[in-house]
Amino acid sequence: MPAKVTFASARPKQLKADATLPALLDRMLVKWAFKKRFGGKKVAIKMHLGGHMGYSTIHPLLVGRIVKAVKDAGGKPFICDVPWAVNSAWERGYTQEVLGAPLQPVTSEADKYVYPHKVNFRTLKTVNKAGNVMDAEALIVLSHGKGHGHSGFGGAIKNIAMGCVDGETRSQIHRLVSATFKWDAKKCTGCLLCRDNCPNGAITYKDKKISIFDHACKYCMHCQLACPKKAITIDQRGYRYFQHGMALTTKAVLDGFDRSHTLFITALLQITPFCDCWGFTTPSIVPDIGILASDDIVAAETAAVDMIKAEDFIEGSLPHPLRRAGEGHLFQQIHGKDPYMQIEECEAVGLGSRKYTLVNIQ
Ligand code: SF4
Ligand code: SF4
Repeated sequence: MPAKVTFASARPKQLKADATLPALLDRMLVKWAFKKRFGGKKVAIKMHLGGHMGYSTIHPLLVGRIVKAVKDAGGKPFICDVPWAVNSAWERGYTQEVLGAPLQPVTSEADKYVYPHKVNFRTLKTVNKAGNVMDAEALIVLSHGKGHGHSGFGGAIKNIAMGCVDGETRSQIHRLVSATFKWDAKKCTGCLLCRDNCPNGAITYKDKKISIFDHACKYCMHCQLACPKKAITIDQRGYRYFQHGMALTTKAVLDGFDRSHTLFITALLQITPFCDCWGFTTPSIVPDIGILASDDIVAAETAAVDMIKAEDFIEGSLPHPLRRAGEGHLFQQIHGKDPYMQIEECEAVGLGSRKYTLVNIQ
């Protein structure tokens, strides 16, 4: 049976407050039986609180409404994210006074409070699950849907796989892809044909060393083909390994919760090409869409990616040097990475279904 995804639109049908997104969000949350799901429980609300001067993370007013719904249902919510994002969260308007719930670093201030979980997948040996998240009895994954240089799309899966673990696990996941870029210093003559043939500015040459920035790389292989000395090799499977590592990590975290006590809420607002961790905001690349929710992470992510349509692209919104090229999803055109692959990997490890039914909230 298809999973249920509820949707509150950001495009009001009437010009009155009750028809706008915060009111629709309130009515949407009612559909998820918060009393049964969260009543009497310690509820971790995992967000990406952004960094530095970014202003496209989820608006505190919307977060506050979700906190209130949990409290009204008898739950005890707290907001959490990685330590460095929590430390500076006040700069972006996230304080206990505004949100109505305390903020906590997922792995403690020192990034040390974890529960290790062995996975042994290539460079990803151990998932160090965030202690403060795993100690909660219920979990709301509140994500800002946006583009991402590593996986095309950043939503609920990224929020868990990169945000409910410690820094060491994040590095191990990133190495799944970076380890597949190889440069042989002994063969290289420094001719720079690789750099000059990279259409995405992903190659730099410094101190006689070539390095490839995997966020910007689109796996076009031009550099490998252009190199007369065969000094560069790229294993395109690295992208799939990365997505599989994220799926294994997401599963390790979610397996610690009774699924009837979880909910995935994704805000498709201020959809920028880059992740919030870049610490700055560039223009939205499509008009605001709304907020969706599901108790199935795979369905929630599929619906979110489906709703971001190439035909809604706002001309002139991409910052230099980004540009659209090729076919596929809008994020694939921008980042060269299929945003559905992480979802396929999560479905393959049993985290949910890509089939969903959309319920529009009136
Ligand atoms: S594969 Fe393509 S995008 Fe990636 S570094 Fe080589 S030339 Fe640049
Ligand atoms: S094209 Fe090959 S030989 Fe030339 S700089 Fe790049 S890696 Fe070195």
